[in-house]
Amino acid sequence: MSLVPKILVADDDETLNRTLSWVLKDNGYDVETIAGGKNLVERLLTNGYDLLLLDILMPDVDGLDLLERIKTHPDLKNLPVLMISSMPPEEGTITSLGLGAADFIPKPIRIRELLARVKAHLRASRELDQARAEARSRDDMMDILREVTATIKSDEIYQILVRRVARGLKISKCSIILAGPDDTTGTVVAAYENPMLRSLEVDLKHYPEVRETLDRQSMVLVADVTTDPLYHEIRTEWESKGVQVPTRSVVSIPFSLKDAPAGVFFLRTTDQDPPLNVSDGRFAQQVITAAVSALEKAHDLEKAIAGKNEMRRLAEVDPLTEAFNRRALLERMTVEMERTARFETVLACLMIDIDDFKDVNDTYGHLVGDRVLRQFADMLRQDQRAIDVVARYGGEEFVVLLPETGATGARIFAERILRDVTGRVFGDDATPVRLTVSIGGATYPDKEIADGASLLHRADQNLYMAKREGRNRYQD
Ligand code: GH3
Ligand code: MG
Ligand code: MG
Repeated sequence: MSLVPKILVADDDETLNRTLSWVLKDNGYDVETIAGGKNLVERLLTNGYDLLLLDILMPDVDGLDLLERIKTHPDLKNLPVLMISSMPPEEGTITSLGLGAADFIPKPIRIRELLARVKAHLRASRELDQARAEARSRDDMMDILREVTATIKSDEIYQILVRRVARGLKISKCSIILAGPDDTTGTVVAAYENPMLRSLEVDLKHYPEVRETLDRQSMVLVADVTTDPLYHEIRTEWESKGVQVPTRSVVSIPFSLKDAPAGVFFLRTTDQDPPLNVSDGRFAQQVITAAVSALEKAHDLEKAIAGKNEMRRLAEVDPLTEAFNRRALLERMTVEMERTARFETVLACLMIDIDDFKDVNDTYGHLVGDRVLRQFADMLRQDQRAIDVVARYGGEEFVVLLPETGATGARIFAERILRDVTGRVFGDDATPVRLTVSIGGATYPDKEIADGASLLHRADQNLYMAKREGRNRYQD
């Protein structure tokens, strides 16, 4: 029900229509009149009223017939109808109440009594609406809670929430946007209308109701997007761009996680659906409130997992070059060698040592030396395929593991590195540094190689040979 109750008066008596309209408006109601009963049902269906005052005796239609049609229509049966008539009260009352009228008001009408009855029936109808919504939401809520608490991933919880609320309210559009009060963009993490969507950045300037919700941190309800002042600016933009906006009504609800504003629950209807009202908003509010603690738990868990992954990563990489460290390399080698044996394939290991690196440090200093090492590691990573492993084995020594690569492939890869290194300038413009490298290769399986240590040893021996042969070369 809208904030100002909307009443339709249907009487063939123009004077009475005008008088009732004036009196009711004077008492704060939104009133429309319709002369006689023609097209009454269509009007009720399209405009949505909170109460109907209906004359029984009208020349073109029978008020009691109309009442019956209204009370048997699924979308109108809950509308309170007050019958007005000059019929003898006993007869009129019994027939109309029997057909489902809320009340019977005899002519001549006593204004104070009419107002009292209108007020009572509007209140009763509002309470009934609420009771219905609450009963519905209690049942739904238990179900939703069961589903949500059985879920430990936040993106799944978001999906459940939009699905349950959209279905519960029979609306076609329902989404969750994560954004803080000062953000200019938000992230749509779930949308009922697009179940595949997980993370879509949106510019909040296109969503004045979401902005308003984030600013006020309270529910925003828009009954009609085409007239609400909130859309004044954006409407002109829609018009100038010829954008057809199908949205009719909107409920936008803020929610917080760990006491910090986290985003909005965003419900929309098109003009094919009945407009959203306060009780719909309350239902969605209850759903999101019920889900908050599950969401908080999911976020905590995700943060802990992310922290653990980060710690594991830190334990595995060399801080200067972010290549794998020696320990991680040995672990990977064990895994790769087992895999190579199991699938009867081949594995190549290249040990790469920068030539005369001591001179780089002596000439340009350690800081430039460090920088060159980082650049060199970046270069190796760019050369590698996704499954290759690049590790820093010692000071200026690196190891690359190439799964499913035999002696020929290893040589091709090594020669590419030799070419790439001599072809580029390391350091920076002020201190350009030229490098060469020596590379020793080994492959597995090999009858003399039993484990990671012996594979590395063979590569190291070949590296030593390459150095002795004059550097800037590959030896296998
Ligand atoms: P070779 O061609 O025989 O490999 O000569 P080299 O000078 O590269 O070999 P050597 O093993 O004698 O020297 C390695 C140098 O690498 C010495 C050391 O200062 C430098 N180095 C090792 N780790 C780092 C590092 O983290 N940063 C910097 N800047 N230099 C490093
Ligand atoms: Mg060296
Ligand atoms: Mg060395």
